[in-house]
Amino acid sequence: MKYLGIDIVKPRLAVFDFTGCEGCELQLVNKEETLVDFLSLFEVVNFREASSDKSDAYDIALIEGCISRQDEVERLKAIRGRVKILVALGSCACCGGVNHLKNGFPIEDVVRQVYGDRKIETEKVRSLKEVVQVDLEIPGCPVSKAEVERIVIALVTGAEIRMPKYPVCVECRQQLNTCLFDFGEICLGPITLAGCGAVCPSGKVGCRGCRGPADDANYESFIDVVVDKGFTEAEIRKKIEFFNAFEGPAKDTIASLIQKRIKTFNAFSGVRA
Ligand code: SF4
Ligand code: SF4
Repeated sequence: MKYLGIDIVKPRLAVFDFTGCEGCELQLVNKEETLVDFLSLFEVVNFREASSDKSDAYDIALIEGCISRQDEVERLKAIRGRVKILVALGSCACCGGVNHLKNGFPIEDVVRQVYGDRKIETEKVRSLKEVVQVDLEIPGCPVSKAEVERIVIALVTGAEIRMPKYPVCVECRQQLNTCLFDFGEICLGPITLAGCGAVCPSGKVGCRGCRGPADDANYESFIDVVVDKGFTEAEIRKKIEFFNAFEGPAKDTIASLIQKRIKTFNAFSGVRA
């Protein structure tokens, strides 16, 4: 088969969901104007939102959702054993996403709060890469359909996969939005990887960083701004921790910069640390 004049072998595509809301899968089937062309690149063998076909033979697996039960661990490992390219699709799969919030509480309290006295098997949330080897991550809650198409087409045609390096702020400015800091809101746009088209700030909602850190993020300036604007450490942490997408070095850097900046701020304001 040819795609844009390039000879390609039609790979077998599988899409699976684990713990998540299925919003990322829905994104894939949502854009009717490109859906038929996109799916014609593959032999779709598992994708329950789009097809009733089922097969255990596939080349590429797009996996949505995080891992929160033991049977999911086994199922994910079985998929890993069968597939050539395993792609984590969306924030839940890449970093736990909103589900990760439950890891901040004792698991028994979480179960009681949601299910009362019912016996439910659930465990601390893990991203896919904490359980199996992941070949590629496409972040976002939900993912951007245009970005998924671009990346998956590059995978199939052997083209270079490119992600933006700049932050959401760049896309927000391109849309001539008024900065949400001027409305008194914290927005993680200055430090979050672009690619979503700044959809939240364009809707007057501060970015919560679902796409994780931008390569070129200037954390020092960001913390300067949020502390100068009078936001507390707890308010900053709440934003950063919402999707768990900053877990790791980025979160540690931010935490130490907050401490350093708040100490300096207090020293100059005559507040005792
Ligand atoms: S990343 Fe967001 S949209 Fe995708 S499954 Fe998770 S909660 Fe749903
Ligand atoms: S603006 Fe931020 S929270 Fe909203 S979709 Fe983009 S990266 Fe995610």
